[in-house]
Amino acid sequence: MEENKTYKRPSWDEYFLKLAMLISERATCPRMHCGCVLVKNKQILATGYNGSIPGDVHCEDVGCYVVDNHCIRTIHAEMNAILQCSQHGVSTQGASAYITNMPCTNCAKALIAAGIKRVVIFSDYHATEAEEFFKIAGVEISRLKIPDRKINYNIDAFCSAVKFKEDK
Ligand SMILES: [Zn+2]
Ligand SMILES: [Zn+2]
Repeated sequence: MEENKTYKRPSWDEYFLKLAMLISERATCPRMHCGCVLVKNKQILATGYNGSIPGDVHCEDVGCYVVDNHCIRTIHAEMNAILQCSQHGVSTQGASAYITNMPCTNCAKALIAAGIKRVVIFSDYHATEAEEFFKIAGVEISRLKIPDRKINYNIDAFCSAVKFKEDK
């Protein structure tokens, strides 16, 4: 039995930001790994990471598709989250977006048009006019500190948990 003394239960903001970071692990463009979680009333509506259009090759396998110093192959995380809502008929009106970074200009405009009212991020992005558009639209921006990059699932400390034989 090993105790995890440093563990502290995350706040809602920390929880969703950490999820955005975890989701970004599925991203396929080595130039940027981005994750997005759309949340309304503490419930997850959809998630997204930056990846190729369905069926296309991935940057990490064949290299980036660079035009004007930007890789244009991927659909960005925020767009993928919004598009998942469109596929499933889920309203994003009044929702919050938890994202690993400040969105690019196009994603910022899409988030505004989708009715997103709050954007929560833990890093900035190199080329974007997002902040200006968010201000015009009255979208709240919360810059929070980078979440804990460790997953605190300490199975050895849980007295009710029984590990599978192969994991012992
Ligand atoms: Zn790429
Ligand atoms: Zn974008």
